[in-house]
Amino acid sequence: SVKGKTAVITGSNSGIGLGIAEELARAGVNVILNSFTDSDEDHALAARIADETGVQARYIKADMSKPDECRALIAQAGACDILVNNAGIQHVAPIDEFPQDKWDAIIAINMNSAFHTTAAALPLMRKAGWGRIVNIASAHGLRASPFKAAYVTAKHGVVGMTKTVGLETAKEPITCNAVCPGYVLTPLVEAQIPDTARQYGISEDAAIEQVILAKQPSKDFVTVEQLAGTVLYLCSDAAAQVTGTTISVDGGWSAQ
Ligand code: NAD
Repeated sequence: SVKGKTAVITGSNSGIGLGIAEELARAGVNVILNSFTDSDEDHALAARIADETGVQARYIKADMSKPDECRALIAQAGACDILVNNAGIQHVAPIDEFPQDKWDAIIAINMNSAFHTTAAALPLMRKAGWGRIVNIASAHGLRASPFKAAYVTAKHGVVGMTKTVGLETAKEPITCNAVCPGYVLTPLVEAQIPDTARQYGISEDAAIEQVILAKQPSKDFVTVEQLAGTVLYLCSDAAAQVTGTTISVDGGWSAQ
């Protein structure tokens, strides 16, 4: 059982990461929340989770665009039985207009950070004799869409890294898997609705209907709770032989 384990969830002061932290805490996992800010609200999130669930919860500031800070997050955590690489950003633009700084930031935060945290966490998992690495990739780790070159590249990279780490740890009581969500209505998606509308020259409502949910045969958004449940499953004993693979939670998107 996961009770008493310690989880580090990157990018967890909002959206999917926060939902995963809450679900793991309800299952008795001590959680370390993270983002690049260091506000009273950030620390209050950890205090609230500790209050509500009785686990230990801490917030550690670390910028996942910086390799040293990725590794320092794991070092400061002290223990990392469960690593959830969730931090991610998006930018929507045609590739010939794609701002170089946005490309670099997306590759760093969405892909490279998982390399650095995984490299730092594996020795701790080996010492503890148990580990679970869950990378929050995307349906865009398996399929492409126009105007998302950096994101699609980074997420495909994460899926490749997941397979490699699964193989490198196959003989150990450690697994590494990727969850590939379809669209979830979090701040990340809300923020790209205006850009998507502009790129396609349509209204924001039409962008949701015709572009965003057009990908998702269920015609419904995936929920944070559904993803948190999937992560908890991957951390369970039932998933001990599930490694180096992807689990799509995408309303049928990748079946197409
Ligand atoms: P979100 O914007 O609500 O959350 C992103 C989190 O990452 C936030 O906590 C943010 O503070 C953090 N973050 C951003 N830059 C950071 C940095 N430099 N260092 C540390 N933390 C940083 O978005 P979300 O939808 O919850 O996204 C979470 C993950 O799920 C991302 O990897 C995203 O690509 C993936 N995802 C989201 C969807 C979706 O539809 N929302 C679909 C598939 C995959």
